Amino acid sequence: MTDWRRAELRARTPESATARTLYLTVDGWPGHLPGQHVDVRLTADDGYQAVRSYSLSAPADGDRIELSVQPAPHGEVSPYLADDFPTGAAIEVKGPLGGWFVWKPGRPDPVLLVAGGSGVAPLAAMLRARLDLGGDVPPFHLAYSLRDPGQRWFGPLLDGIAEAEDPAVTVACLYTRAAPPGHPRPVGRITAADLDLPGFRPADGPLAFVCGPTAFVERAANLLVHLGHRPDRVRTERFG
Ligand SMILES: Cc1cc2nc3c(=O)[nH]c(=O)nc-3n(C[C@H](O)[C@H](O)[C@H](O)COP(=O)(O)OP(=O)(O)OC[C@H]3O[C@@H](n4cnc5c(N)ncnc54)[C@H](O)[C@@H]3O)c2cc1C
Repeated sequence: MTDWRRAELRARTPESATARTLYLTVDGWPGHLPGQHVDVRLTADDGYQAVRSYSLSAPADGDRIELSVQPAPHGEVSPYLADDFPTGAAIEVKGPLGGWFVWKPGRPDPVLLVAGGSGVAPLAAMLRARLDLGGDVPPFHLAYSLRDPGQRWFGPLLDGIAEAEDPAVTVACLYTRAAPPGHPRPVGRITAADLDLPGFRPADGPLAFVCGPTAFVERAANLLVHLGHRPDRVRTERFG
């Protein structure tokens, strides 16, 4: 039985013009696996409560957790977390939650991460855990679908991966509306070609993690299955 725990906001940094990463410390946090999420509970002065799920966007680090939040227009919880929740104040979190959409460091299988927008949050935790391992096994690739360069989250992490030029850990940004000058891929929605990658084909036995809005997840997971990936090797998380 998982209980609600007090989580205090220590700092907040921007990921885009509107999205924010929140750095929290959680009383008695037991640790977590990359890919897991928490439920966040807000309680108003009159006792009204709202609960929403947020992915853990960094690997386990003592009592510290990171949540990366895209404020939904007119949303009840996300605009408060992104903009108004004061540093030093507390919310409640329950977790870690989820046992299927997780990457366990030590598995040898290649890992194909497929993100749509804010769905990159749990995949960033997996990427960071992979980088912490070092070496060249297992190979990791992130296919990150996003609207334009201003929506690119985790800039220092992704820039560091690009600069390292390590063939074992790679990232491709798949811009849907506007790309930076000279970007090699035409703008547009994710296609089979974006996921048909040497080292990550069905015969290579990869594990795929697909996360984002429901429509994106369904499209990307269908593309993978049509490419020949076994459905039980394609793990999905829908943000709704
Ligand atoms: C497992 C999981 C992990 C998640 N991880 C993340 C994460 O890492 N980062 C992240 O940003 N999100 C994540 N989400 C999504 C998150 O849980 C929330 O759904 C999201 O933040 C919106 O919550 P909200 O309370 O702000 O919006 P809500 O108040 O729930 O509203 C959602 C949307 O519906 C619209 N809406 C609400 N009421 C109405 C109405 N009456 N009529 C018309 N439209 C309406 C709002 O305008 C808004 O756009 C995750 C979801 C799941 C299930």
